[in-house]
Amino acid sequence: MNREHFSAPLERQDPLIDRALNGEKQRQRTQIELIASENTVSRAVLDALGSEITNKTLEGYPGNRFHAGAEFADIVEQAAIDRAKQLFGCAYANVQPHSGSQANQAALFALLKPHDRILSLDLAAGGHLSHGAAMNQSGRIYEGHHYHVDRHTGLIDYDAVEQKAEELKPKLLIAGGSAYPREIDFARMRAIADRAGAAYLVDMAHFAGLVAAGVHPSPVPHADVVTLTTTKTMRGARGGLILCNREDLFSKLRSAVFPGVQGSIHLQVIAAKAVCLREALQPAFQAYGQQVLDNARVLARTLEGRGIRLIGGGTDTHLLLIDVSSKELTGQQAQNVLGEANITSNKNPVPFDDPIPSKWIGLRLGTAAGTTRGFDTRVFQTIGEWIADLLEAAARSEQARKTAVRDIAEKVAALCRQYPIYP
Ligand SMILES: *Cc1c(COP(=O)(O)O)cnc(C)c1O
Repeated sequence: MNREHFSAPLERQDPLIDRALNGEKQRQRTQIELIASENTVSRAVLDALGSEITNKTLEGYPGNRFHAGAEFADIVEQAAIDRAKQLFGCAYANVQPHSGSQANQAALFALLKPHDRILSLDLAAGGHLSHGAAMNQSGRIYEGHHYHVDRHTGLIDYDAVEQKAEELKPKLLIAGGSAYPREIDFARMRAIADRAGAAYLVDMAHFAGLVAAGVHPSPVPHADVVTLTTTKTMRGARGGLILCNREDLFSKLRSAVFPGVQGSIHLQVIAAKAVCLREALQPAFQAYGQQVLDNARVLARTLEGRGIRLIGGGTDTHLLLIDVSSKELTGQQAQNVLGEANITSNKNPVPFDDPIPSKWIGLRLGTAAGTTRGFDTRVFQTIGEWIADLLEAAARSEQARKTAVRDIAEKVAALCRQYPIYP
């Protein structure tokens, strides 16, 4: 046996992948991360992800496994479960979903039968593929119907949701999405679900970390089932969680995750989830959540002050959706010019936007990763001015654009050196 198998570092074994991973680390160090779904995990989370526990194959749940040798795995998974329950104040937590999409897949599998109707936020209004969209398996197995936001305010029109729920009588009402910047009225949605005889799922993938920090209302007391990702504002490993308070649903959710939609678990990820859940239980995480919100509000105010329209009129979360047609650009053009200055964001449809991605006029921004890096409101105000400068220059002329990119890229580089990540 080649003993090198256990000791040779990646650097020597696979230079191509090693170089790409180092390139990615360097990319993260030298840019400002504003993609709302991203964050920067702790060293401790990275250590857990690289653990030898990745070798362990297990199916089932702690204390009830299909394979031997589960004693340490059980400690890990039970800790993740206990911490999730404590953090979110719920009676049941499933920490096995490989992703947010699979958490939803399992929740739908537990709550619905094929062809049942789902009522969820429209994709173009900030919903999510896994909520019954036509191109997703959830839209093939179940019947996806969607509610919208008000064309003028960009806010969920609860009266319209209620009317649609009354007409449609869906089996499931879903709240939550990927590009909705405001608070959702969880109690109102509960009442709508009850009147229509629907189950009620809240997907808090984006704002879960803010709920954990206690700076955003929790859907847990209202919903039948809550799903989330441990990435995004939770600042942990890539993966999903399912929370629930209804005892009659526990075993359904359990068997929906396994054996319903998944096989053996990813223990290195569950270990990393446990680590991030512990981090979120510390007082420092509350301060982090508050800073994320403060930063988002300052970024919103700065952009608005420069004549940029905010969808929904502002933000109650880490997330902003801006209309860059107010600067005569498309989302793609805005994403490109920011990217050239090493500010990373993503184009996004605004409500009722063109179906063709290259014509979208939205740009989505988030403050979760920058806040982790240590940026305060003063820094985010500066970043807001840079963004407005870049957008205005890109709309003016090729020459203005080049000058602005050169100038701001230098300032971005200096800021990144001032706030280093992963020494
Ligand atoms: C990100 C997100 C998901 C999906 O999470 P993945 O881990 O990428 O599968 C699900 N729902 C919402 C609302 C999201 O924003």
